Amino acid sequence: MSIQSTVEPVAKLIDELNKLPGIGPKSAARLAFYLLKSPKEQTQALADAITEMKERIVFCSLCFNITEEDPCSICQDTSRDRTKICVVEEPLDVIAIERTNDFKGLYHVLHGALNYMEGVTPQQLKIDELMKRAQAENIEEVILATNATTEGDATAMFINRQLAKMGVRTTRIARGLPMGGDLEYADEVTLSRALEGRREM
Ligand SMILES: [Zn+2]
Repeated sequence: MSIQSTVEPVAKLIDELNKLPGIGPKSAARLAFYLLKSPKEQTQALADAITEMKERIVFCSLCFNITEEDPCSICQDTSRDRTKICVVEEPLDVIAIERTNDFKGLYHVLHGALNYMEGVTPQQLKIDELMKRAQAENIEEVILATNATTEGDATAMFINRQLAKMGVRTTRIARGLPMGGDLEYADEVTLSRALEGRREM
C-alpha cells in the first residue's frame, strides 16, 4: 500500500470537515486526527447521528422549522392563532419560545441573520418566503424575535421595512434580553417578558 492511499481517507475527512462553518483547515485536521484516535463506537455513533438526522428531519415547507413531517406539527395545529407569526433566526429559538408557553401563534424560521460582511444577504435567508406568507395568509402581526445582536437588529429592520410597504403590522420583542444574547440561551422568564413587552417598530 502506498503512503498516498493510506493518507487518502484522512485527507478526505479533513476536506469534508473543512467545509463546515467556522472550521478552518487547522481545526479540520485536528478533529480528523482526534476521530482517528477515538474508539470505533464513538466515531460510529457520530456517523449514525448524522445519517439519522438527515434521514428523519426535514424543513417544514411553510415555516422552515425542523420537523419529521411536513408541514410541521405547529403549522398543522388548528388551535393556534394563525394571525400572528413570530420570526426567529434558528429552529432552537422556536423550542425556546415554545418552552415559555406564552405564544400561541405560528413561526417563521429565517435560518440566520443578515451579515453582509460574511456574505449573508436577504436572498440567503427565508425572507421572501415570509413576505409571501404575510401576503397570502391573514396575518395581523409579525413579531420580530431575532437575536439582540447587530445582525439580529439589522434583520428585524430590513423585514420591518418590507412589511411596512405591505401594510402589515410588525413588533419587536423587548430589550429584556441581554445585549448580544441569543434567544436560545435566555431563560423562560426573560423570554416571556421580552415577548410580552414587544413594541411597534
Ligand atoms: Zn411549520
